[in-house]
Amino acid sequence: MLEIVKKEGPITGEQIAEKLKLTRATLRPDLAILTMAGLLDARPRVGYFYSGKTANQLLGEHIRNLYVKDYKSRPVAVREDSSVYDAICTMFLEDVGSLVVVKKEGHLAGVVSRKDLLQAAMGKQDLQSMPVGVIMTRMPNIITCGPEDTLYFAALQMMRHQVDSLPVVRKDPERPDEPEVIGRISKTTIVKAFVELGQP
Ligand code: ADP
Repeated sequence: MLEIVKKEGPITGEQIAEKLKLTRATLRPDLAILTMAGLLDARPRVGYFYSGKTANQLLGEHIRNLYVKDYKSRPVAVREDSSVYDAICTMFLEDVGSLVVVKKEGHLAGVVSRKDLLQAAMGKQDLQSMPVGVIMTRMPNIITCGPEDTLYFAALQMMRHQVDSLPVVRKDPERPDEPEVIGRISKTTIVKAFVELGQP
């Protein structure tokens, strides 16, 4: 059908049916799928024509239309003055690979990852008395994303900066260096979205 429309479009449903020696009703569901998928365009009283987009282009468009706000998960946070020991317990119990570190009012102070905690545990310091603020990567060096960013942008940022997660933040124009943490995007989020996209 695609070949016919590519060659002869714009062409009506009846004309396609005639060429295939089928009824218009038999073709209707297939035409609907091809139109919905974006491979064909339909114009009333003109007919179907080929959109010129490859399946890859359409998939790319679809991927770039997914937004952080629809995929973000709950952030797992500890306070800047929590101990490294407590951060290790939280990471273990919450089953995440990184924690956001926040100031009193939920504003972003930094991030601690598995490796940061392992590194601290390798030393001889007392983990119960060492505040997590001492070992975290701190603002303004934190790579973040916003709820209105695309999931694709978030994935690109994780890849570019070689980190496993990004805090999702709402920027406060009065405190540009202390945005409010409202969620979390991790590589697991991207894997989940990928699986969802590929579902038959
Ligand atoms: P892992 O420790 O498991 O390798 P990451 O790759 O996420 O996890 O972290 C690597 C380093 O980057 C750590 O020192 C961590 O503090 C820091 N880091 C993690 N996430 C971010 C982020 N979003 N922005 C800046 N630095 C980060």
